[in-house]
Amino acid sequence: MDVRLRFRILYYLLIVFFIAIYLIAIWCMVSDRVHFSVTLSLFLTLHVVITSIGWRLPIIQARAGIFQTLTEGPIHEITTELLRKAELKLKQIHVFIQPAKSFNAMVNGYRDYFYIIVTKPLLETLSNEELRAILAHEIAHIKHKDGVKRLFDLWMLIILPMGLLTTANVLPKDSLSSNLIGTIGIVSFVVLLLRWLSNTRKGEYAADRYAAELIGDKEALIRALTILNEKSRYKPEFAVYRRPLLTHPDLNSRIANLRKA
Ligand SMILES: [Zn+2]
Repeated sequence: MDVRLRFRILYYLLIVFFIAIYLIAIWCMVSDRVHFSVTLSLFLTLHVVITSIGWRLPIIQARAGIFQTLTEGPIHEITTELLRKAELKLKQIHVFIQPAKSFNAMVNGYRDYFYIIVTKPLLETLSNEELRAILAHEIAHIKHKDGVKRLFDLWMLIILPMGLLTTANVLPKDSLSSNLIGTIGIVSFVVLLLRWLSNTRKGEYAADRYAAELIGDKEALIRALTILNEKSRYKPEFAVYRRPLLTHPDLNSRIANLRKA
């Protein structure tokens, strides 16, 4: 069987498995029959597994030959030059090319090993200057330790409300303490979700400013972001009430942030 097909089957099986475990965990949370420590352990284990697989998956895909790994050439040279400029001493950095239909770039990793994923259509569309700007943006995320910060916020968003709701569930039904803790649990979820989204957007603005400074060319980054936005068919501007729910600021806001920097 083709390695890509095998990988795709494995990928969908994993998704089905996680949804099933997640549903079981939610059932445990609302059920009186399962002790809350069991539910909490189940949720924690699930999130450790998801985080680890999410981080390892692109490396496995690269090893299986699904992602192309750049170890030389202009893109690799630009990346190492930008890392040097940003004074980042990493043990290893990999640039993976993902054969997807989307126009995207992302970074993942921790401590001194990171990988940047650039999708093939993005690589083929952008000029070297624009690609340099996108790589600088991803390197800014490494410099600002955004991955760890986002993960921490996400964990808070899951653990705190879930702990409160589970506690409310084990307290006597319809008691004041149970209702109060349950309400705080729901409110904390909404607050922490908005906080996570807001911090993520702030991280994007900061990464854009740092990238523009690193390459000394904010116009190249604006061009690259505009192309990425157009090709992904996103609106350049979102309604004010929708903005707090975005993980990334809309294009016009990012351009305004860069122009005033
Ligand atoms: Zn970013």
